[in-house]
Amino acid sequence: MSMSTVKRRVVIIGGGTGGAMLANRLPRDEFEVMVIDKQPYNYFWPWLLYIAFRGSRKPIKREIRSLLKPWVNFIQSGVRFINLQDRYVELENGRRLTYDYVVIATGATVDYSRVPGLDKVTEMFGNYHSTEENAWKVWQTLNNMKEGTLAIILAPGAYRCPPSPLEGTFLAEEFFRRRGLRDRVRIVFATFYPRPYPAEPMNELIEPLLKERDIEYITFYTLDHIDPEKRVAYSMEGEELKFDAAIVIPPHVGVDIKYMPEDVLDSDRFVQADKFTNRVKGFDDAFVIGDASALPVAKTGVTAHLQAGVVAGFFRVRMPVTQAVLTVPSMLVMVSAHS
Ligand SMILES: Cc1cc2nc3c(=O)[nH]c(=O)nc-3n(C[C@H](O)[C@H](O)[C@H](O)COP(=O)(O)OP(=O)(O)OC[C@H]3O[C@@H](n4cnc5c(N)ncnc54)[C@H](O)[C@@H]3O)c2cc1C
Repeated sequence: MSMSTVKRRVVIIGGGTGGAMLANRLPRDEFEVMVIDKQPYNYFWPWLLYIAFRGSRKPIKREIRSLLKPWVNFIQSGVRFINLQDRYVELENGRRLTYDYVVIATGATVDYSRVPGLDKVTEMFGNYHSTEENAWKVWQTLNNMKEGTLAIILAPGAYRCPPSPLEGTFLAEEFFRRRGLRDRVRIVFATFYPRPYPAEPMNELIEPLLKERDIEYITFYTLDHIDPEKRVAYSMEGEELKFDAAIVIPPHVGVDIKYMPEDVLDSDRFVQADKFTNRVKGFDDAFVIGDASALPVAKTGVTAHLQAGVVAGFFRVRMPVTQAVLTVPSMLVMVSAHS
């Protein structure tokens, strides 16, 4: 491709883990790359655990701009509409951006409305799956608690990072043990899965650790509603879990963006895609990576990272031959470095 050829435009929506990684991997000679995010920061979500359970004051976020290669354009604006049929993205101010390719990397968000009482309980005790503020609230909850029952409940539905509910539970146990309060604080982990950790091989490791640390657990517990005043969480199976403090991992859904056609979304607003190529269902020029997808894979940064690689591969095969020749040996170096 000669330098005079007009570059094709790739619009990446979301400058989180997946979006930023992909943007930096696209061949600059052939593509004009644009990242759009509604806010200026790239959040490192695992750090919510360190705020909630260790009181960490280290920053959880960095400027998206600082993470992107200089030739990648960054627009700070919310996207409210993606028209896959007419190939444009509409920003919050009404401005329309046309594209040759679009990549949806908008992550997931939490939906408190799906469990009655959950908004109030979150206000009281916080959580470690939404904002820095809510994670700080968990830290306060732990520090205020001198005795009683701490319930950590995994609400039914999608959530980010399969190990994180139990990571928080073990960190809470450590918190009270280190303060000499462990014999006065009962810790109960409740999950809708048939075992504490959903994947069996991991569970074989984790269940004995829960027993060893005297953490109680309830399985087949599908959270239905919570009475914040009485401090009772009710399951669909009819179980009542009394607590003094409750930290609930809320149901996650896709972010609030309208799509044309609407049926690319599932009922939880996640974008449906082909599991081999990450192409949005029915479209050759649209991809989805990371937590935003409806694919039956874990919602993790690792997944977003690997999927960014899959999609970058699609753009790379369109590279000029000279560039491909340079890339292949460097890929071999990477492979040998990892083996
Ligand atoms: C407590 C916790 C622990 C975790 N631990 C791990 C771990 O150990 N390992 C691991 O691999 N993963 C972990 N994860 C999961 C990991 O953080 C996510 O899976 C990862 O961030 C997903 O990347 P993403 O790019 O899909 O979404 P995100 O990183 O969430 O980025 C989405 C971006 O889209 C933007 N956006 C949303 N809506 C719009 C809109 N309308 N317009 C414009 N921009 C928009 C957002 O502002 C955001 O910047 C953890 C998560 C949590 C909560």
